[in-house]
Amino acid sequence: MKHAAQPWFEIADDCLRAGGRALTDLAATAGRTPFYVYDRAVMDRKVEALRRVLPAEIHLHYAIKANPMPEVVRHMLGLVDGLDVASAGELRTALGAGADPADVSFAGPGKTEEELEYAAASDITLNVESEREIEVLAAIAQRTGRKPKVAVRVNPDFELKTSGMKMGGGPKQFGIDAERVPEVLRRIGALPLEFRGFHIFSGSQNLRPEAIIEAQQKTVALAARLAQDAPAPVTLLNIGGGLGIPYFPGEQPLDLEPIAANLRALIPDIRRAMPGAEIVLELGRYLVGESGLYVCRVIDRKISRGQVFLVTDGGLHHHLAASGNFGQVLRKNYPVAIGNRMQGSEREIASVVGPLCTPLDLLGDRVELARADIGDLVVVFQSGAYGFTASPLGFLSHPAPIEIVV
Ligand SMILES: *Cc1c(COP(=O)(O)O)cnc(C)c1O
Repeated sequence: MKHAAQPWFEIADDCLRAGGRALTDLAATAGRTPFYVYDRAVMDRKVEALRRVLPAEIHLHYAIKANPMPEVVRHMLGLVDGLDVASAGELRTALGAGADPADVSFAGPGKTEEELEYAAASDITLNVESEREIEVLAAIAQRTGRKPKVAVRVNPDFELKTSGMKMGGGPKQFGIDAERVPEVLRRIGALPLEFRGFHIFSGSQNLRPEAIIEAQQKTVALAARLAQDAPAPVTLLNIGGGLGIPYFPGEQPLDLEPIAANLRALIPDIRRAMPGAEIVLELGRYLVGESGLYVCRVIDRKISRGQVFLVTDGGLHHHLAASGNFGQVLRKNYPVAIGNRMQGSEREIASVVGPLCTPLDLLGDRVELARADIGDLVVVFQSGAYGFTASPLGFLSHPAPIEIVV
């Protein structure tokens, strides 16, 4: 088996292992299938690889929406320099894990008054996404005597090219349009708010270093330009993230070296325009995506007009992304294997489906697998990010999968 994800996990006696234990053993520990298993050692290695090449000035933040399981967040907290949250619930998770409020920022459109109040009281940094948020925070400041910390999330005047998901450029619900920002900065200066800096996030899941480099160059140039209108020295520059992981056949792991070299070259520019700014790179899937496996069991084996279907107890209700229904335009297969028969004695082409009454419930469309039978374990790799958390767990009222950390 040659999956892009394969190098992270050992195989012994034809069985996949995670955290030094055979998958069959982990299934026994979980008590039932389906389950997600997240391997701390993979998270460690991902962060180590980044630290090895990135300039020391770059602070790494974990965007916890990728995987907000408290144990994962606690582990990541020990590895990175801060956490980024996107809701009051995530903020509770971050603070509950023991994060220092000085290293937590909260981005996301449509923050409610309650969320803004909670965030201000927690003394974290709010990445404001609209002029309304600024005014609400100013009213909170007047009422409480606290000075909320704010950074302006900027909707840039460029986008991250060939990204899995574009989060900036053109009309967007995210951030404040770059051309409006100078005026917004003047307004912030007149209010009882502590101005911290800028958050510029242009996209996600990118595997092309040239595109990431170009976006980072434009991000720094834009921030340097906006900094001229800042009401106070910039103490925080969040340059976004966007580093992707390989999911589909033919995709290669991202080459970090050119990205790191570009960042090294950009540091003097940042220092010149924004001396004293903490530079943050915020990553979700790059840090945790490869650490996770989704494991379900074959319940039935059917042959329909010559095509083999492995019907499992897992599916899109647990792992929407692997079914291809979370932002894919053309459906492609996540890497899939039979976890207790990685090679097997016989191979076949089979489709892996779930128990839901919809043809969308597909985890693998005609993939080459070891010949599997009822009771065998199907593994979906690259499942540590946007798996459990991004799935419609209530759909068809099956039990939610278990999550374990090894
Ligand atoms: C979702 C999100 C991230 C994380 O994206 P990944 O693709 O998981 O790295 C980072 N920053 C912001 C603002 C986000 O919305």
